[in-house]
Amino acid sequence: MKKTENYINGNIQSSSTKTIPVFDPSKGEIISEVVVSGTDDFQNTISSSNQAFQTWSQVTPLKRSRILSKYKEIIEKNVEVLAKLVSEEHGKTFDDAKGSVIRGLEVVEFACGIPHLLKGEYSQNVGTEIDSWSIRQPLGVTTGITPFNFPAMVPMWMYPISIACGNSFILKPSEKDPSCSIKLAELFSEAGLPDGVFNVLNGDKTVVDMLLNHDLVQSVSFVGSTPVARYIYETSAKQGKRVQALGGAKNHLVVMPDANIDQAVDGIMGAAYGSAGERCMAVSVAVAVGDIADELVHNIQKKAESLIVAPWTDHSSDMGPVISEEHKIKIEDYISKGENEGAKLLLDGRNYKIQGYENGYFVGPTLFDEVKINMSIYQEEIFGPVLCVVRAKNYTEAIKMVNDHPFGNGASIYTSDGEISRHFTTNCKIGMVGVNVPIPVPMAFHSFGGWKQSLFGDHSMHGIEGVRFYTKLKTVTSRWPQSIKSGPEFVMPTN
Ligand code: NAD
Repeated sequence: MKKTENYINGNIQSSSTKTIPVFDPSKGEIISEVVVSGTDDFQNTISSSNQAFQTWSQVTPLKRSRILSKYKEIIEKNVEVLAKLVSEEHGKTFDDAKGSVIRGLEVVEFACGIPHLLKGEYSQNVGTEIDSWSIRQPLGVTTGITPFNFPAMVPMWMYPISIACGNSFILKPSEKDPSCSIKLAELFSEAGLPDGVFNVLNGDKTVVDMLLNHDLVQSVSFVGSTPVARYIYETSAKQGKRVQALGGAKNHLVVMPDANIDQAVDGIMGAAYGSAGERCMAVSVAVAVGDIADELVHNIQKKAESLIVAPWTDHSSDMGPVISEEHKIKIEDYISKGENEGAKLLLDGRNYKIQGYENGYFVGPTLFDEVKINMSIYQEEIFGPVLCVVRAKNYTEAIKMVNDHPFGNGASIYTSDGEISRHFTTNCKIGMVGVNVPIPVPMAFHSFGGWKQSLFGDHSMHGIEGVRFYTKLKTVTSRWPQSIKSGPEFVMPTN
């Protein structure tokens, strides 16, 4: 059976004999196993990363950028190879997997501009014959801990920028779909990245804790569920590490009575059910405002009924299975809870069976109407193909729901009223906002991150926020000896 090991110092290796199984979610069968690293693997990784940092940080930004450009070309040639690894272990459709690799690739493209991005500020004559400038320097050994739902894209939000800034990077991928990370690391070596600059260390909480508690680890980037994000943030901050920890979500899409209803329904379809709802920017709540509600719900139901649920190997598939049996059970339990709490279940995705894939972890498109804000299906993240429609009397009630919700990752509004749209973008307490756009994921040259329980820390991912996160600011004030005209000064200089 295939075994996914670690990628340390340019080699595939592992000392640990402990493994956990990796499944094909379409069939519910074990397809490989992944190593659970122990102390020996961890020590090898840390010393390789630390050594690599000493030399890599001295390589000029332009030379780093050239390796990134080569990496970009190599990834472009390997999009399908990477996407296949994603689909096999995650279960998402092949086209969606390709899309996610390309969104990751865009961060590599952005990081190619690192000589420009690292330029500091300069002021001549901040005092008489005194000049001042700022520079951004790398942190050292940096690390990223990533979730199962984007095994290529989320790691690529992190390491290309960290490495471009002159750091070394240790990636701890999700144990549920680890293969793609190893391939990404191999391709980076092929592009000329020196050994040890990018290491991949597989495992579970034990290895995460080793990373959080090691003195040489300077920063922690995390993406995953909110309880773990909070734990990562608190533990890392206590150790004095720089940390950005992105958590879960419950994204609302508000449909105003003046919205183009067909556009809104199409937007909701892809955003609620694409990737079986396992996206942190998935729309899980549609807020129907005023008298648009009945028609909106009717049209969503009609379209959702015709969605094709199938394994990734079937190219007509709109959505595949969810990640694991445990997760399927959790989603189905939420559907039962919603029913018991009194929401109107219009489409029930429980016990969804596909011929030939009877043991696969499929959940059909599920639709609830008349969901109330005190219900658990509204309050909690389900992370599956379950859409809750909440009815609001007016815009004021709708934006209040968005703002009162504990999560603040993404939100969208569908309207043709410029004033409402401006009010919404200005006043919603949300990190990423869409106007007539269902999934407002920022491009690589902007930054990705939520508010409230969706992000712990001060920096979002990638874009200029990424460059700031992975560098320390230094400001130099300098004059030449000949220009020192007086003796000691005992008062604060004023210019
Ligand atoms: P998860 O929190 O279970 O796991 C994420 C990572 O943390 C994995 O690498 C895992 O091995 C590790 N981990 C798990 N439990 C841990 C613990 N107790 N201590 C230390 N490390 C631990 O998340 P998941 O199920 O892989 O991913 C789904 C979640 O990720 C959803 O909540 C989703 O909303 C969220 N997500 C958020 C974003 C975002 O940008 N905000 C993006 C993608 C996914």
